[in-house]
Amino acid sequence: MVTSADVKAFAKECGADICGIASMDRFEGLPKGMDPRSICPDAKSMVVMGFRIFRGALRGMEEGTFFTSYNLMGVAGTRWVFQPVTLWRFTKLLEDAGHESMPIPDNFPWCNIDDLDPDELGQGFIDVNPSVYGKTDGNWSRPVDPERPAPDVFFQLRLAAYCAGLGEIGYSGMFLTPEYGPRQMFAAVLTDAELEPDPIYEGGLCDKCMACVSECPGKAISEHETVKVEIAGHKLEWGKLDFAECSVAYHGGVPEHNPFSVNEKDAEGFAKQPYTESKKYKMGPILWNGRTLGGMRGCQMACIRHLEEQGKLSNKFKEPFPKRDWYESTSDTTGPNA
Ligand code: SF4
Repeated sequence: MVTSADVKAFAKECGADICGIASMDRFEGLPKGMDPRSICPDAKSMVVMGFRIFRGALRGMEEGTFFTSYNLMGVAGTRWVFQPVTLWRFTKLLEDAGHESMPIPDNFPWCNIDDLDPDELGQGFIDVNPSVYGKTDGNWSRPVDPERPAPDVFFQLRLAAYCAGLGEIGYSGMFLTPEYGPRQMFAAVLTDAELEPDPIYEGGLCDKCMACVSECPGKAISEHETVKVEIAGHKLEWGKLDFAECSVAYHGGVPEHNPFSVNEKDAEGFAKQPYTESKKYKMGPILWNGRTLGGMRGCQMACIRHLEEQGKLSNKFKEPFPKRDWYESTSDTTGPNA
């Protein structure tokens, strides 16, 4: 028999940094299109794994010198290489013990979220815009049975991480863990193994300092409007996010926060985003430019700095974060964190 302790130890052996377990009843109340039980109705447990993003990979973004480490080792490498390899290895443990198990990396290229209310559970950020691929009727897919939601069912890995007791959702909407703050990505495995679930995390990381709001290059997080949801019997609340402005800023569309934006033509190109229209930058939807140039600046770096200053994270470093921000060697005080 596979136990929760076996599962967690093996997840770490396979490469996960943190691991928690959710029972499936904790997803009660989610819309069918966002409920993992729609994918595996017989699942008894969800194993959620966290993969740290190296703090060192942020150094070049923090100082404006090297953006590749975060983009490739932080985002692409974790999402496309390390997570899948870890899930492949890990899922064998459960299958070898006779438990059907579905590995799910944090990538939903066929998600059905367009069919749902964008504000439902604060969702609204999607990886696919049907119109980009020539579909214009607003629906990405259709249900194969009236009782089932349209594929692919999309569930939020941050909510899964919450249900697995790994941490809390901060005011920014980012998932925060006591180990790394917002500095990780998640993957999950749905299994029919009945595993002992972890207790829901009691909270205490986010103190609503609002650094994420003030340091967002896209001013995408509302200071006053919030999203309220209830999950696993707990009421959660975070700042309402303007997904269009977040997407533009994240992909380098705010010129003063993107050193690769050298002239007006660059600025126009960087501001073009895949699914939404930025009110500020007046750009229509086109194909994703695929770069996370704004990436960890703004909400994520602000939060890491704040939580580390507070001594709340267990992954400790000899030196504070950040060491040298942009503009520090000049008298220019118009930089991102001025
Ligand atoms: S920056 Fe402050 S308010 Fe924002 S999520 Fe982190 S702790 Fe919460």
